[in-house]
Amino acid sequence: VSEFDLLIGGGSLATSAGLRPLDLGIVQGRVAAWLAPGGEAPARARIDASGLVVLPGLVDAHVHFREPGLTHKEDFSSGTAAAAVGGVTTALVMPTDLPLTLTPEDLRAKRALAEGRLHVDIGLQAAAHGPEHVAALAAAGAISIEIFLGDMPAPLPVADNGALEAILRATAAASILAGITPTDDGVIAAALVREQQPGDALAFCRSRPPLAEAVGAARALAVAAETGAPVHLRQISCRASLELLRAARVRGLDVTGEVTPHNLLLTDAEILRQGPFAKVIPPLRPEAELPALWDALRDPGSGLAMVATDHAPHTEAEKSADIVKAPGGFPGVQTLLPLLLQAVAEGRLDWAGLVRLTAEAPARRFGLYPHKGSLEPGADADLVLVDPKRGWTIRNEDQLSKARITPFAGRRITGWPVAVLLRGREVARDGKLTAATPSGRVLVRHHP
Ligand SMILES: [Zn+2]
Repeated sequence: VSEFDLLIGGGSLATSAGLRPLDLGIVQGRVAAWLAPGGEAPARARIDASGLVVLPGLVDAHVHFREPGLTHKEDFSSGTAAAAVGGVTTALVMPTDLPLTLTPEDLRAKRALAEGRLHVDIGLQAAAHGPEHVAALAAAGAISIEIFLGDMPAPLPVADNGALEAILRATAAASILAGITPTDDGVIAAALVREQQPGDALAFCRSRPPLAEAVGAARALAVAAETGAPVHLRQISCRASLELLRAARVRGLDVTGEVTPHNLLLTDAEILRQGPFAKVIPPLRPEAELPALWDALRDPGSGLAMVATDHAPHTEAEKSADIVKAPGGFPGVQTLLPLLLQAVAEGRLDWAGLVRLTAEAPARRFGLYPHKGSLEPGADADLVLVDPKRGWTIRNEDQLSKARITPFAGRRITGWPVAVLLRGREVARDGKLTAATPSGRVLVRHHP
């Protein structure tokens, strides 16, 4: 290259092997070269990253942006704005909107709604409760096929194991990842009868016990073993599911799982403090479940491959209902990176782990690597400049999601996302959007 469009110099490049003092040369929105620090390579523009860590833009594999049909809660513009200021440059959007994303026509209509309004890139995930549309959804660019085993409104739940087998045979044949939300309606029904004690705020948490998740995970993994389908387990929140996932990995199955920041960092005690604003499914767990989740995150052999938010916004009025009526979920895409920067500051995670869990692994698993999830030459220049020393506090008033109330409000963070670039162009700085026009795209997965 005779001249770079942009040179980011003086910083520490975060890779899945750790921090390295390297400058980045960017041409036409892509990383063109890694350069020894302090060189005088010609460039049309420069960013001085002295004292900063240069991270690959985060890939959040699990967000609900509520469009179409539920845009009083969130839409593509507000959801991707929250992502952008938080350092998430690729968000993978779940299919649980109105209508559900069940057919190639639904997928194309959703893509048309999103185009031109995105502050970061997205991918669209489709849902299946039978095998009939799987091949066409894969061909139409769906990032994954999502299967819900229970605890959802009709027609989503796949309670029938023959139907689950048929869907996984179809996803395996189409070489598309099946995302499975593991739960079990029978276990939940029994727990609901057993745990009904008026005035007991924790009854909701106990109504979705670890056993419901583990029984769902066991079903999913047994059918994955039989069909050979690659499977990704959503929102693992307890030790029992982790043990099943690890055993499946030992058998050589192509299976992974994700964990949310809130299941890593909050316990069921938050229900007593925050009421329905801390209601989420799977629920916040007792303190005793958390150490196994952290241990699995730090162990690349565990199969717990990534942190994903389950960003699930609702309005303040909806969340102000009583614990039974209030919907589950809260925003998360904007606080993912800050919470994990705090984990790095506390020594619970290292920079290599942060890159692996929030960028490289999700990009690989969902067919977006190496354009996403990496800053190797050739990758899209999606990156976050982080000041690892700056302290600040998460506040509801700074959230760009329409659901402004985060259960992490008031939490002290060390590590600040100074600026966020998408394809070499600044989209956010110091918690504010900066690009005049949205430049995000709808991604499709690479066919293996
Ligand atoms: Zn979700």
